[in-house]
Amino acid sequence: MKHNFGAGPGILPHEVLKQASQAVVDFNGSGLSILEISHRSADFEAVLAEAVKLVKELLEVPEGYSVLFLQGGASTQFAMVPYNLLPDGGKAAYLESGVWANKAIKEAKYFGTPEIVATSKESNFTYIPKDYTVPADAAYFHITSNNTIYGTQLHEFKPSPVPMIADMSSDIFSRKFNVADFGLIYAGAQKNMGPAGVTLIIVKDEILGKIDRKIPSMFNYQTLIGGGSMYNTPPVFAIYVSMLTMNWLKAKGGVAAIEEENNAKAAMLYREIDRNPLFKGVAATEDRSKMNVCFVVNNPDHEKPFLKLCDDKGIVGVKGHRSVGGFRASIYNALPSTSIHVLIDAMQEFAEKNK
Ligand SMILES: *Cc1c(COP(=O)(O)O)cnc(C)c1O
Repeated sequence: MKHNFGAGPGILPHEVLKQASQAVVDFNGSGLSILEISHRSADFEAVLAEAVKLVKELLEVPEGYSVLFLQGGASTQFAMVPYNLLPDGGKAAYLESGVWANKAIKEAKYFGTPEIVATSKESNFTYIPKDYTVPADAAYFHITSNNTIYGTQLHEFKPSPVPMIADMSSDIFSRKFNVADFGLIYAGAQKNMGPAGVTLIIVKDEILGKIDRKIPSMFNYQTLIGGGSMYNTPPVFAIYVSMLTMNWLKAKGGVAAIEEENNAKAAMLYREIDRNPLFKGVAATEDRSKMNVCFVVNNPDHEKPFLKLCDDKGIVGVKGHRSVGGFRASIYNALPSTSIHVLIDAMQEFAEKNK
C-alpha cells in the first residue's frame, strides 16, 4: 500500500476510486460507461445537480450565489476574475503570498492595474503578510487561502471593503469558513475535491455584470451560469468523481468533522517536525498550513537518504516543490492518519539511524 502525500493531483478516497472505476465500465447499471453518455442525459443531469447541491450543503452557500463547474483549472480563473470584474485600467488589490498569487497578479495586468497590498516575497513566502489595508476604490481584493508550495495558510479572513476573491484550490472543503465573506471563490478540483479537469467556482451573482467590457461567452461567468455549467460539454467524469468525493465527505460528517481530523493530522506531524532534531519546519509557526506541511533536513546530506527511506516505506510525493526544496507532505482530506503515522515512524527511524 502506498501513502500518497502528493501535492496535486492529490489523494482521493479509496472507495471513491472503486465507485468511479465501476462507473467507467457500467454507469448506474445503464450498460453504458460514464465516459460515453450524453451530458444532456437525465443520468448526467442528476449527477451535476447532485454535485451543485453537495457544494451548497457542505459549504453552506447562502442565497444569491451561483455554483459553477468549469474547465481550464484555477489558472484560467486568474484571468477570468479580472476579465469579468476589473474595468479597463481599473485597480484591483492582491495579497502576494506565493507563486500562485504571482500568477494571478500577472493575468490582472492584461486588464488593469493590480496593486500588491502586501508581500512576503523577501522571505520566499514563508509567512502570510498581515499588515495591510485594502483600498476602498479597488474593484476587488484577491487572496490565496492556502499556499500549496510554501505550506502557509490564512487562518482568518479579515473583512474587506471590496469583494474578496479567493483561490482556495488547496484547502477548499478542509475547514469551515463563511462563504458570505467572499465575492468569488475558485478552486481547481485536483487538490482536495476530485480529479484534475474541473474547477469549482462559487460566485455572488450581484458582483457580476458591473463593467462595460465585452466578454466572450466561454469566459463570461454570466453566460456560464445561464448555461448551468453546460454552456458547452462539461468535464463529465471529473464532475462525477468530485460528486462522489463530496458524498464521501458528507458521509464522514461534512466539513466540520473533516476539519477536526485535519487539525489532528497536522498537529501530529508538526509535533514530530518540532521534536525531531534532524528536521525543521519551513513556514512561520502561526501561518502553518494544515494541508501542505513543508519541512527541511538540518543537514543537506540527509535529504537523499531520507527520500530513499520514504520510498522504501511506500511514502510517495514528499519531495518539496522545486522552488522551495526540502520536503512537503500534503495531508489532504482523503489522506488517512495511518499514513501520517507511517511518515512519523520513518522520521523517527531516520533520526535513530543518524544520531
Ligand atoms: C495547484 C494550484 C493552482 C493551479 O491550479 P491549476 O488547476 O493547475 O490551474 C492554483 N492555485 C493554487 C493555490 C494551487 O494549489
